[in-house]
Amino acid sequence: MRKIWAILRKDKYDRLAAELQDVLLLGWNQATKDAINEVIRAIKGREKFSREALNRMSRELSIRLGLRFANRIAAPLLEIETATYEVGMKDIIKIKPTFHLVDQRALEMLQRHNIFWVREFFDRQLGEQVEELGRQVIEQGLTREQAGQLYIDAFKGRFQSYSWRYWQGYSNHVVTRSREMGRIEGYVRAGVEFYEVRAVLDYRTTDICREMHGRIIPVKNGVALRDKLIAAESPEEVKEIAPWMKPEQVRGKKSSRLNIGLALPPYHFNCRSRTVIWHPPAEAYRVDELEYGKDLSRNEKKTLAGLTEEEYSNWLATIQGRQKLNFAPESLEAAYERDAAKLKVKSKDEYLQLARRLVKKPKQIFAQIAGGEKQFVFWGEGGYAVVNENAQLIGVHPYSGRVSGMAAKRLWLKRKL
Ligand SMILES: [Zn+2]
Repeated sequence: MRKIWAILRKDKYDRLAAELQDVLLLGWNQATKDAINEVIRAIKGREKFSREALNRMSRELSIRLGLRFANRIAAPLLEIETATYEVGMKDIIKIKPTFHLVDQRALEMLQRHNIFWVREFFDRQLGEQVEELGRQVIEQGLTREQAGQLYIDAFKGRFQSYSWRYWQGYSNHVVTRSREMGRIEGYVRAGVEFYEVRAVLDYRTTDICREMHGRIIPVKNGVALRDKLIAAESPEEVKEIAPWMKPEQVRGKKSSRLNIGLALPPYHFNCRSRTVIWHPPAEAYRVDELEYGKDLSRNEKKTLAGLTEEEYSNWLATIQGRQKLNFAPESLEAAYERDAAKLKVKSKDEYLQLARRLVKKPKQIFAQIAGGEKQFVFWGEGGYAVVNENAQLIGVHPYSGRVSGMAAKRLWLKRKL
């Protein structure tokens, strides 16, 4: 079943992540089965389940689901890291790359740190749940027999689904990191100077990735990060070099002033963001000048000031370049009810068409802050449409005032076109 998924994925990186997921889930199932047979089925008898029994069981599980499991999947893990790294670089330089010393070092770093998190998963995460269940069992004074059965059920039930979710996220993480390490070397070899961060914008996109979307980063920053990661001696050091940042730490900051750890995705566990070569924006999306409205609060101004003209252009390319924008779930009804009559549209379909038309052919475009988040306003014939940072429509409203009134509370993305 999983294999079929891997084949069905169109995107090559999704396919590699799915392949890794196959390896991990199959391996995990086998390791768990072995652990149940060798460790948990040995918990027998009518005497009470004791603290000592719990400790012994945890230790034995830690070996089987930690070190042994890591050894079992080490070879296929390295294979997928290498393939991903290679494809990541090939995408940029367009020919099959030969590996140099820096690539071997990068791969060695990836394997060392990735295998560490496989080995540690039980001790740092699942182990807590094993312990928690054990505490309950001891408190309730259950027998060893009963405890064993509870553990068997848990390992086939909630422990398993918890672990599977982890391995799925982990697979995306490994592929994202390996791909970006390969890409950065690709940018260097191709003589690229800047790349652009592209998040997958949908309902699952994290705040940090929406904040990073469209940002333009100098290749030398990515190289600096890559070299620091290669030099890192422990997984803890990797975390210090590229910590998971909160959106507040990024919002309103110029890309040139961001922490070096943000030069490359992943920005969090299970991250889907990528980098691509940055090209100056197509004429149609080019923002030539930013004009801050006089009525913007200081905070709004600061938040909106994080991106340059070119980075706002990247956002316009993302939004206006979409074939068919849709409404965010649940906002169509309410927005339609409120403004349909004033806009003289007779159906939701007409309302949606108006929204799409405004985004495709606006007279003016603005950015605004609402609820702490950026929104884009496309103003034209018949009203203005508002699009959120997930590239979803959230409303169309009438407006018959002057452009100066519209601009006063917003950032005007001025275009010469
Ligand atoms: Zn992400």
